[in-house]
Amino acid sequence: MCISSVLHHHHVPPCPRPLAFVTHCLYCPDATVNPLTSEVVAPCANVVYTPDHGVNYDDPCSTGGCIVSPQCSTGTCRLQDLGGRWVCCACRRGGNVYRTCTNRKVGSPDTFCYHDVCQTCKPDGSPGKESTLSS
Ligand SMILES: [Zn+2]
Ligand SMILES: [Zn+2]
Ligand SMILES: [Zn+2]
Ligand SMILES: [Zn+2]
Ligand SMILES: [Zn+2]
Repeated sequence: MCISSVLHHHHVPPCPRPLAFVTHCLYCPDATVNPLTSEVVAPCANVVYTPDHGVNYDDPCSTGGCIVSPQCSTGTCRLQDLGGRWVCCACRRGGNVYRTCTNRKVGSPDTFCYHDVCQTCKPDGSPGKESTLSS
């Protein structure tokens, strides 16, 4: 039998997003598997739901199931907050659209800056303007 339970995703301050509840399923060998990808496509006929009283929706942390939101830990939230385009606080150049700064590192043009978007990085308010190509 497969076990379905409710976990919750935390966003890490100062990310203002609220808790998100997610259903997580532990599949047993009877679950239906896609033979091509060997991914589970459906649980078996005997799904056990961990009792609802196991989750206190007012204080979910008290009953466990805490997980840091993968979106938050990877910087996806911050990228969204900055409107998808940001100015790197490490090299001060904009035009970044990924979670990591892809401007060339100052002084070593073969290397990217690789600064991960953080709270100090600013939104890039100049759409269309490509990153400064000064040499
Ligand atoms: Zn099962
Ligand atoms: Zn929690
Ligand atoms: Zn977040
Ligand atoms: Zn940078
Ligand atoms: Zn930064």
